[in-house]
Amino acid sequence: MPTYVNPDKCDGCKALDKPACAYICPNDLMILDLAQGKAWNQEPDQCWECYACVKTCPQSAIAMRGYSDVMPLGASLTPLRGTDSIMWTVQFRDKRVKRFKFPIRTTGWGTIEPYDGMREPDAAELKDSHLAGEDVWLGVDSLPVPEGVVLEGKSGNREPAGSAADGRSN
Ligand code: SF4
Ligand code: SF4
Repeated sequence: MPTYVNPDKCDGCKALDKPACAYICPNDLMILDLAQGKAWNQEPDQCWECYACVKTCPQSAIAMRGYSDVMPLGASLTPLRGTDSIMWTVQFRDKRVKRFKFPIRTTGWGTIEPYDGMREPDAAELKDSHLAGEDVWLGVDSLPVPEGVVLEGKSGNREPAGSAADGRSN
């Protein structure tokens, strides 16, 4: 269900340096029309449907375009963003309404350190099959390597997270 901007609600994020939806979209789909002062989803077909834009929009101006088999004609799904939660209102064709409330992240804008706790990049690790920080996020000391595989520049598993080499402790 790709997203679309309700122009009646969108204020172009006048209070922010950059439109929140444009800032957050991982696929750079949200564009601010400077002349109109309204944002729009420039390529709904490319929308990942992650709904990050929906959750971050301070005006609750972004809604989902439901596929007809999921959301028959006349139904709607509308978010209402609060300071610590988001309320989804589902209205069915017969006008029945259901609401679901979920907590949202309250980390301050721009304060997330995505690489916090991760060791310095090691060029040699570009050649192995593991993802950056995989062992850290999985909470293991080392990751298994299929038998017979020799990692270039390594004699076996990658260095355990929290080893003396990366200066961290688990
Ligand atoms: Fe408009 Fe919401 Fe995007 Fe801000 S985040 S530009 S209010 S759609
Ligand atoms: Fe971008 Fe995700 Fe919003 Fe789609 S749902 S426009 S991918 S932020």
